[in-house]
Amino acid sequence: MPGLILVVEDEPGIVDFLDRGLKVHGFDVAIATDGQSGTERALDENVDLVVLDILLPDRSGLDVLSTVHEARPELPVIVLTALGEIEHRVTGLDAGAVDYLTKPFSLSELAARIRAQLRVAAQTQRTALSAGDLEINLLTREVRRDGELVRLSTTEFELLAYLMRNAGQVLSREQILRAVWGYDYDPGTNVVDVYIGYLRRKLRFADRAAPIVTVRSVGYRFDAGD
Ligand code: CA
Repeated sequence: MPGLILVVEDEPGIVDFLDRGLKVHGFDVAIATDGQSGTERALDENVDLVVLDILLPDRSGLDVLSTVHEARPELPVIVLTALGEIEHRVTGLDAGAVDYLTKPFSLSELAARIRAQLRVAAQTQRTALSAGDLEINLLTREVRRDGELVRLSTTEFELLAYLMRNAGQVLSREQILRAVWGYDYDPGTNVVDVYIGYLRRKLRFADRAAPIVTVRSVGYRFDAGD
């Protein structure tokens, strides 16, 4: 089961300890030493779990956590906190961390927590999403409406998958932009509206409109009406 563990931590001693130790436990390890690069790496779908320090040089780990959790809610994140930072721990769990460890911690404890979280993730990993008459397969990237194959580009697929994962919720253009196009995208762009337009055209089926509702002055909501 070993997977790719992303360590987001700036203290060289701890980075080195985690890098060597996790490899001994059979994991592949990627390192990011600041919040920005940590966020970017975490959104790469090859990463299986993130070990995240709260105090980072540029962005707070909690800020990284909420961005990552929004874009990849299924990705397990274990937060590292210093002794006494109980408020970080609580906030971290609220923001989507699945577990936390207080420094100093033992490597075998961390490895055990990682294995436990990877097991949970493997069991809950969804390979398909469906809503109303729309079905998408996250592995084959096949999209069907009422059984009929719909051909989407990679970006259109990512956009639809993100909307469906958050079905019923109003998503702002900024949220969608960050989740689908990445963090650095120019916030003034109208690319979200353009792609929503493409999706609507492709998903329109017989007399049924695409299940994407415009929420005035905010953004969009996926609503299959069921
Ligand atoms: Ca730190």
